[in-house]
Amino acid sequence: MYFRPEITAMAGYTPGEQPGALSKFIKLNTNENPYPPPPGIRRAVEEVLDRGLQKYPDPLANSFRVRAAEVLGLPSKDWLLAGNGSDDILTICTRAFVGPGELLRLPYPSYILYRTLAQLQGARWEEVPFNADWSLPAAFGDSAAGLKLVFLPNPNSPTGTMVSREAVLQLAERLPCPLLVDEAYVDFADFSCLDLVRQNEKILVSRTLSKSYGLAGLRFGFLAAQPQMIEQLMKVKDSYNCDALSIAAATAAIDDQGWLAENRGKIVATRGRLSQGLAELGFEIIPSQANFVWATHPRHAAKPLYEQLKSAHVLVRYMNYPGWSEGLRISVGTDEQNDALLALLAGMVK
Ligand SMILES: *Cc1c(COP(=O)(O)O)cnc(C)c1O
Repeated sequence: MYFRPEITAMAGYTPGEQPGALSKFIKLNTNENPYPPPPGIRRAVEEVLDRGLQKYPDPLANSFRVRAAEVLGLPSKDWLLAGNGSDDILTICTRAFVGPGELLRLPYPSYILYRTLAQLQGARWEEVPFNADWSLPAAFGDSAAGLKLVFLPNPNSPTGTMVSREAVLQLAERLPCPLLVDEAYVDFADFSCLDLVRQNEKILVSRTLSKSYGLAGLRFGFLAAQPQMIEQLMKVKDSYNCDALSIAAATAAIDDQGWLAENRGKIVATRGRLSQGLAELGFEIIPSQANFVWATHPRHAAKPLYEQLKSAHVLVRYMNYPGWSEGLRISVGTDEQNDALLALLAGMVK
């Protein structure tokens, strides 16, 4: 009655379960980092608290943009837009590019939130299935009436697979609209497309501190793109979309590339052990470039496995993608968490 029809009609995005902070669950369901974040963020947050929070934060998060541009090898801060998590960045881009009735394209299977963003705009969306080898069909780069934005998670969720840099560049050249490469998991991968923003203004690359920097609770993400794109997108964001504490903590976090390299090394090593352990139990695994693994079992349905794990206080993500597959998306935890998970699964599938 009071609401826009698209709001009443939509289901709303359902995030993964978050049991209370003090619960005894081993949490492998939302791809959080199992390790504490870079230590420097404590000092950075304390300095802001000592100065006080009476004043509004820097609306553009320039301290972060300056440091991040140096770390990422971009020409200047003008190539970056900071957001309240990368979900904020995805929202800003959808609002900026896609009007009611227009079209947003995404691959299938991929991140469910993209659909929700299209629904909020009263826009249409089109899901293009990946090829069997997880590359994209030519149709993904075709023009279409009303097509205004294309999302490509790379690495993809829930598969952990990647599309090559050449393919991304070719897509951007063919598409009539911006291509947003969502690099939420790229710090765990073998390559990135970030520098491609220099070559084509249609390439936009989003990143988050939630996964690889262990800061999902902080809410900080950013977009890299050519300055004339960033300038327009700035108009769409909330005036103060990042708060003073998160800007300071994010700046300290991105400053600590040594921490990132070490953390990445641990996660990638455990990812190998997890994949191997699951394969030994008869699971079918898609080789992953992210901090999670997609697993299905030829003899055991995914839902009961998820439920049995949950009753043993291990949370993984059960997902059902109609027309493709149902399965478990299992985040890479610590080696101890990994051992506990594999021991439980061994008892369930033998
Ligand atoms: C987790 C995730 C995000 C969102 O990250 P936040 O910065 O926490 O909002 C974006 N895209 C994908 C594919 C993700 O998995």
